[in-house]
Amino acid sequence: MFISDLFKSKKTVWSFEIFPPKPTADLSGIKATVAALADLKPDYVSVTCSAGGSGNSRTNEIADMLLDDYGILPLAHLTCINSTKDEIRASLKQLHGDGVENILALRGDRVQGAAPSPDFAHADELVRFIRSEGYDFDIAGACYPEGHPESRDLIEDINNLKRKVDAGVTHLNTQLFYDNDDFFRFRDMLAVAGIDVPVQAGIMPLVKKTTVDRTVGLTGAKIPAKISRMVARFYDDPDSLMQAGIAYATDQIVDLISAGVDGVHLYVMNNAAVARAITDNVSSLLAGVNK
Ligand code: FAD
Repeated sequence: MFISDLFKSKKTVWSFEIFPPKPTADLSGIKATVAALADLKPDYVSVTCSAGGSGNSRTNEIADMLLDDYGILPLAHLTCINSTKDEIRASLKQLHGDGVENILALRGDRVQGAAPSPDFAHADELVRFIRSEGYDFDIAGACYPEGHPESRDLIEDINNLKRKVDAGVTHLNTQLFYDNDDFFRFRDMLAVAGIDVPVQAGIMPLVKKTTVDRTVGLTGAKIPAKISRMVARFYDDPDSLMQAGIAYATDQIVDLISAGVDGVHLYVMNNAAVARAITDNVSSLLAGVNK
């Protein structure tokens, strides 16, 4: 099934993002996580992929596992910044053979020391390449409500995004954000730019010190004063930070659903308990809008 078809039948799509285990790790941990996520009946689950080093070998394996062992629709991330056409071709062949039909086509984060791709500089080139290989994949793309950090401004970034969508992207997943007004402004700007594919809002609950320190730092997301106060107050109190982070994410999602968002993609960081708490908090809303 294509994820783009979900947007035709549902008002608000609900999905999770997980990351695969390290190349040498056994699968017991990820299996327990996926089993718990399966209980929450997400519309699909996406699996991240490292741009350099270990590459996407485990991404494809976990995407296949989601589909075959848990009946969950997978979205396999595929990065190109350190890959050749032949490597991407091999990955497409594997995904197609496994019955995985949905790909999130990404340039990928720069990895220090990894050899740059001789074939791909940007995600739109990857999208065109996938389309040219003759498979019938549904292709999603990434987008940035606050603008991609390498872009001069949001307008330049949206013009580049338009190329990616025109190359064959059928839906967009946003970078995490903590101020919904940034997302609403972005959505309006996409409409003006003539980008009319569904846009799913990426929400990352700030529930752990490590998420606060690493992930948000990496993405450069703007931190509203409300979040700064929350983090400052509960940084060294794990239970309270967990509860406050879940409450903040829930509040963001309630507002997004109220504003008719096409979907919410929860960056659950393999934490099924957080996914459950938030899903439970908004389950009636989702059931209501999707009636
Ligand atoms: P692009 O679309 O190529 O954009 C990158 C930059 O180049 C932007 O500034 C854009 O404006 C500019 N640009 C785009 N096209 C052109 C063009 N034709 N000419 C000139 N400039 C152009 N990273 C991972 O390594 N693994 C993952 O699994 C992963 N998953 C992600 C999931 C989501 C939903 C998001 C939002 C990001 C994810 N990332 C992941 C991070 C992502 O790889 C980085 O943000 C990366 O820096 C950009 O990837 P992109 O696909 O958006 O690139």
